[in-house]
Amino acid sequence: MNSKEIIEKYDSSVMHTYGRLPLAEQSGSCASCRDADGAEYIDFGSGIGTNSLGFADKEWADAVSAQAHTIQHTSNYYYNETAAIFASRLTQLTGMDSFFFGNSGAEANECAIKIARKYSHDRYGDGRNTIITLQNSFHGRTIATLSATGQDVFHQHFFPFVGGFKYCPANDIAALNELVDDSVCAIMFEAVQGEGGVNSLTPEFIEAIFTVAAERDILTIADEVQCGCGRTGKFLAVEHFGVTPDIVTMAKGLGGGLPIGVCLAKGDAAQVLTPGTHGSTFGGNPVVCAGANVVLERVSSEGFLDSVLEKSEYIKKALLEIPCVTGISGMGLMLGITLDGISASDLLKRCLEKGLLVLTAKEKLRLLPPLTISYEEIDRGLDILRSILCK
Ligand SMILES: *Cc1c(COP(=O)(O)O)cnc(C)c1O
Repeated sequence: MNSKEIIEKYDSSVMHTYGRLPLAEQSGSCASCRDADGAEYIDFGSGIGTNSLGFADKEWADAVSAQAHTIQHTSNYYYNETAAIFASRLTQLTGMDSFFFGNSGAEANECAIKIARKYSHDRYGDGRNTIITLQNSFHGRTIATLSATGQDVFHQHFFPFVGGFKYCPANDIAALNELVDDSVCAIMFEAVQGEGGVNSLTPEFIEAIFTVAAERDILTIADEVQCGCGRTGKFLAVEHFGVTPDIVTMAKGLGGGLPIGVCLAKGDAAQVLTPGTHGSTFGGNPVVCAGANVVLERVSSEGFLDSVLEKSEYIKKALLEIPCVTGISGMGLMLGITLDGISASDLLKRCLEKGLLVLTAKEKLRLLPPLTISYEEIDRGLDILRSILCK
């Protein structure tokens, strides 16, 4: 099928929940891909940060395929070696004690919300169930995670939403301390807000979260679904701030393009969920874990995270030389670009026409290239950006 045929077939049967672009990706390697008509693209979006090792990484694809040829799924009533290896690696890399296996970011955050509420209920009984989240946050599309998301545009259509969430302006310490009362059981945040516009929290604000949380036995929840797994140049973005949350959620880049979501916990928070209190049929799927194992090995290999930071500096330096780039936010290979004279959504469409895949976040252009992107691919992508912006 050519692109047009694929798009027509898909659109006639799949719900139109996305403003999709007219691109049918067919095959790829690292940060380069082709559409169904053979046109080439450089990928600065990695499937919204999921293809952390790029398209069809050989080692990753071999591991996934070998696992599919061996055993593809066990129920969660049994054990499996591939999942066990992944589990011990992940707890080692994060320093967390244990985690719950799910399949997406929203599911990981649902688990975090359940842990926070049960932790508090077990200790203090009814009424201590408020979770403070941040304005401009994004935590997922289920009813509870939409409720957690601090953006009014998401609080429409699906009433009633889940109660018990309060929204604090990011980086506003006075507002945070104002919102904290005896009903609060947890504070949930993205160290670098992704969908909300690639905004890093300030070290002072993160410190304030952890200070008030420690004083009042409030759990801290870091949503690292987008900023985790090496994306910012540390395995977890919170490592830049020197804090250890009670709960960390991860998803997007962790499976290298296969669905996985985990909710990690430390200390007493890791003891909250007991048999029968939570579950997910596909959680811990061995094929997914085989791919995720390759991601963990690669991201934790000698020099890998430094290479993410080096590529980040290289891209930032080149972008800042473009006159209409007025600012760059974010960390590592999670970058938000403020533009003068062109809207991010227009630029995204122009990039697509010229063979470059990018993302937007609010009014910014957002780049989430594969962590393995080559300098040659970076240069080709930057050339396309310059050809549009420097005229
Ligand atoms: C994408 C995202 C989610 C939701 O993940 P899904 O896999 O789409 O459910 C949650 N939190 C953050 C920070 C995200 O970027």
